[in-house]
Amino acid sequence: MRRILIATSNPGKVRDFAGAAAPHGIEIGSIPGFASLPAVVEDGVTFEENARKKAEEYSRHAAGEIVVADDSGLEVDALGGAPGVHSARYAADQPHLADENTDDGANNARVLRELRKVPAEKRAGRFVCVLAAARDGRTLATFRGTAEGVILDSPRGTGGFGYDPLFYFPQIQKTFAELTAEEKARYSHRGAAFRQFLEWCDAGSRESGRA
Ligand code: IMP
Repeated sequence: MRRILIATSNPGKVRDFAGAAAPHGIEIGSIPGFASLPAVVEDGVTFEENARKKAEEYSRHAAGEIVVADDSGLEVDALGGAPGVHSARYAADQPHLADENTDDGANNARVLRELRKVPAEKRAGRFVCVLAAARDGRTLATFRGTAEGVILDSPRGTGGFGYDPLFYFPQIQKTFAELTAEEKARYSHRGAAFRQFLEWCDAGSRESGRA
């Protein structure tokens, strides 16, 4: 079975990647000793920058292997694209300076507070996921997936993580916290980016035995 190393300690992301990889007979693995590696400072202003930085730094700890890192978040149009790259720390006083992630519930509460007076038709937003694949400290490729939805005025559903309970996906009339693992893999930003990564791997292995 093929194995892909993903550099993340976020259990929600690991579940999503495992769900996206399973139909392809791929197992998701972790970098040896990942938990004890120093955290990468996510100070980029784009998802791409942060994903590349994480993939490059962590790939130095798995010589010769392709390491994949994800940077992702929620962009809300009525908030000028926030929380964006600060999604994991949005409840902090100064999210761009915070070095610790804040609680999902507190992050969701801030988004709801800021959207309090925004009517349903102006609550469009999207999840974005950028994956970077790196080897020995060098980015080989990046892949971007998005999912378009609407931010509800109260949470719905008990699955998922992060902003999932606020993110209503009109295409199947569910929030992301109401999706099965298969549905999340099919419709999510992370699933979309992961499929592009797999196509790249397959093209590479056809050409040169890369993956
Ligand atoms: P990162 O670890 O810096 O990429 O932060 C990602 C943050 O974006 C998470 O902590 C969540 O708050 C949010 N996020 C990203 N992807 C998802 C998702 O699939 N569902 C819900 N929230 C997400």
